[in-house]
Amino acid sequence: MKICVNELKNHVGEKIIFSGFVDAIRDKKWVMFVILRDATGKVQMTIEKSDENNKELLERMSNVTVESTIRAEVEVLENTSVKLGGIELIPSKIDITSSAEPLPFDFNNLAGVNIDTRMDFRWLDLRNEKNMLVRQIESCLVQAMRQFLYDNHFTEIHTPKLIGTASESGSSVFEVKYFDRLAYLAQSPQFYKQMALAGGLDKVFEVAPCFRAENSNTNRHATEFTSFDLEFSYIDSYEDVMNLEEDLLIAGLSKVKDEYGDKILEVFGKEVIVPTKPFPRIKLKDLYEKLHEKYGFSIPTEDIGDMNAEAEKLTYRLALEEYNSEFMFVVDYAATKRPFYHMRDENGKLQGYDLIWRGTEITSGAQREHRYEELCKNAKEKGLGEDVKFYLQFFKYGCPPHGGFAIGVDRLTMLLLGLTIKETQFLFRGPNRLDP
Ligand code: ATP
Repeated sequence: MKICVNELKNHVGEKIIFSGFVDAIRDKKWVMFVILRDATGKVQMTIEKSDENNKELLERMSNVTVESTIRAEVEVLENTSVKLGGIELIPSKIDITSSAEPLPFDFNNLAGVNIDTRMDFRWLDLRNEKNMLVRQIESCLVQAMRQFLYDNHFTEIHTPKLIGTASESGSSVFEVKYFDRLAYLAQSPQFYKQMALAGGLDKVFEVAPCFRAENSNTNRHATEFTSFDLEFSYIDSYEDVMNLEEDLLIAGLSKVKDEYGDKILEVFGKEVIVPTKPFPRIKLKDLYEKLHEKYGFSIPTEDIGDMNAEAEKLTYRLALEEYNSEFMFVVDYAATKRPFYHMRDENGKLQGYDLIWRGTEITSGAQREHRYEELCKNAKEKGLGEDVKFYLQFFKYGCPPHGGFAIGVDRLTMLLLGLTIKETQFLFRGPNRLDP
């Protein structure tokens, strides 16, 4: 396995193979400095011109373009006068493993570069130090959240993304040609997470793509995004679901703060704040009243019983001002605004919630309706028939009371770092963006 820049200090005095991108070449009178880069940082390779043995190396390196890649046999030396980590590499052999053509833009300086050009050449855009950090931070966050679930005896599952019926909720689904019939791309793993519980697995999760055929060009919607989805059995109410989500987010953000807190502040200007329990919880009706009273906001008629983007922004403001919290759970949504599988109590009150963080919804969660008769009734009310028949069967042969939620991973990272979804996703997918 390749030795990375951040591991070189453990190899001082050794002869090793080092590979990386050529970040820069500084050709001085007496010496050539080649700055090499990998995902963990940069290091200086020094080639003395006075040394006759270096003639061939110098000749070879004088023809190399920046962003080419090399493989070098080097000695690792400690040198306190070297700014890059106090380490320098002295090569005895260099192979050019790939040659780079002139770049379409300078990825170190993206200020004036159009976002679509960046997307067209996303693999170059990703070489930008900030963009590389986004990937590493997201990986750390998801790893910590996964670990939390493993530690709590959740099982990771992998549900199909090709499905036979377009049924689950109001969100539009993509159709795909499937031999001589149509199939659909899964808009969420909801039905299959629940099938796992009906299958006797008590606690399951999945981190996987969801597809939504929504023609929206906001800075927080994508047509394909990664969802961190979980579902678990034997809950007493949706309070249990919210409690688990608090613990999960605390675990994820604590790890990110430990590993990247300073870097995030320095590079993105955002403080990572690990929330404390319990996150504030507010009923939608009370929220409307507060938002009106404090900020003069009224929910438009078509959104009554639900939130909209403006309400989410103001909810964040309220959460900060009144609860000193970046997070806020909102409960008591109208059942008409929520999918049929969310449980309602005996008075028809919805047993679900949304979680708002930094002005945007990051999660929908709920206790699910696990009683076959009730579920059939709710589906019928929403006008759903044949399409959900297969799903309703899951609840016919015994199924524990259960609940769960979905967090958009892209949204989480985006809000953590103060970016747009285009900048955040590894490769953005939107109504006008399917390539590369
Ligand atoms: P929104 O109201 O923001 O469109 P939604 O109510 O459709 O979201 P859900 O179906 O509840 O979202 O999905 C759960 C989570 O998945 C959301 O809270 C969000 O974090 C994420 N999510 C949903 N749609 C998208 C999207 N188009 N792009 C990115 N993330 C999304």
